[in-house]
Amino acid sequence: MTNDDLKKELSRCLSCRLKPCEKACPLGVSPHDFILAAKSGDYQQAARLIAEKNPLPQTCGLVCPSIFCQAACIRRKIDYALQIPCLQAQMIERGNLPPLTLPEPNGKKAAVIGAGPAGLGAVFELIKNGFYVDLYEKESTLGGAVRLIPQSRLPKEVLDKEIARLTQNDRVTVHLNTEITDFQSVKEKYDTVILSLGEPIPRTLGIKGEEHCISYKEYLQNPTKYQAEKIAVCGGGEVALDCALTAKANVEMFVRRRREDMRIDKNKHDELDKKGVVIRALTSITEINKTAATCTLTTISNQITSEGKAAPCPETKKSLSGYGIIIQALGSYYPKEKIPAGFITAGDMTGTTGTVVEALSSGIEAAKKAIEELK
Ligand SMILES: Cc1cc2nc3c(=O)[nH]c(=O)nc-3n(C[C@H](O)[C@H](O)[C@H](O)COP(=O)(O)OP(=O)(O)OC[C@H]3O[C@@H](n4cnc5c(N)ncnc54)[C@H](O)[C@@H]3O)c2cc1C
Ligand code: SF4
Repeated sequence: MTNDDLKKELSRCLSCRLKPCEKACPLGVSPHDFILAAKSGDYQQAARLIAEKNPLPQTCGLVCPSIFCQAACIRRKIDYALQIPCLQAQMIERGNLPPLTLPEPNGKKAAVIGAGPAGLGAVFELIKNGFYVDLYEKESTLGGAVRLIPQSRLPKEVLDKEIARLTQNDRVTVHLNTEITDFQSVKEKYDTVILSLGEPIPRTLGIKGEEHCISYKEYLQNPTKYQAEKIAVCGGGEVALDCALTAKANVEMFVRRRREDMRIDKNKHDELDKKGVVIRALTSITEINKTAATCTLTTISNQITSEGKAAPCPETKKSLSGYGIIIQALGSYYPKEKIPAGFITAGDMTGTTGTVVEALSSGIEAAKKAIEELK
């Protein structure tokens, strides 16, 4: 964004008295307030206002969907909503991240298991309240599922810088490559424990031949390993979008419902079109057969019923061939029955969040609950 573009966008804010944009933010960041500071040229103050509520402020600015503050923006009644997440990212970039100020230690020690946004949100709240925190992460890096977001949407340097601000201080000890399996014995060593384990199990199509597919996790962790002339992506959400936009090939997306039902922002449709991604909407894959180097897909068309469900239309079977790679990008889940009883949980594992900002908020709320329980 150029200086002129930024000033123009800031000037569109109406400074609405009731601050609907603040109410719509899961973390309670106030676009009204930070835009006001920015309008007076004080980007540092704008960055401070954002970062005191949001532990991953630039990250959220770059990846937040338009369903929160932007959807609530009153300016849309005149022409179109302010690009609030983009403005937030600009403020952090221009105003810099203020250092964390921490109170005297309170002598209590917490364990946070899982270092995605929910775990990091919990760490943020705990250290702001004087706790020492041991942060356990089974992978070799911090950040959880956010690490799978492609570099083009979220530069790793932004994420690394924001995570370092939260974890590189005398209150947090990070334990990488440490998968916790016995949660109960961890509980015995700490004043409080928060579980933020994400959604480890990718959803599958549940059809004959699905063993020929790879999961979105395998693909996005190492896209260069999987090269083919034609790639099929199954799914219609953010995860499928990232797979489709990452692939350097002819990509076809198989979406069970209508194109307008895809859970992605409008501008992302333009990106898919620009890249020439073919969207096979109202189409389900029912069988996969491997033939030499490629796969043949059997598909069926769907129609939307009066109850709004996607139902298969009989006699619409098709056979499509030549797919070198098939990616299942249907999201993932944490098996409810496996959630250990008697623990405070946060983030996507609870089934109540699905975005970075919501997971951060859930982690902060979990930490507040833990702090309350110790009083
Ligand atoms: C490809 C992709 C694109 C996305 N795009 C967006 C987007 O544009 N905007 C947006 O807002 N959201 C997006 N999301 C969703 C967002 O990333 C998640 O909602 C968020 O990361 C959930 O946070 P979490 O902390 O609950 O779980 P996670 O981020 O999954 O973190 C859980 C962490 O716990 C660790 N862990 C699990 N079990 C153990 C154990 N036993 N011991 C130790 N560690 C353990 C895991 O390794 C992981 O690091 C995307 C997700 C994906 C996969
Ligand atoms: S709702 Fe939109 S126009 Fe109103 S204060 Fe918030 S950002 Fe500005």
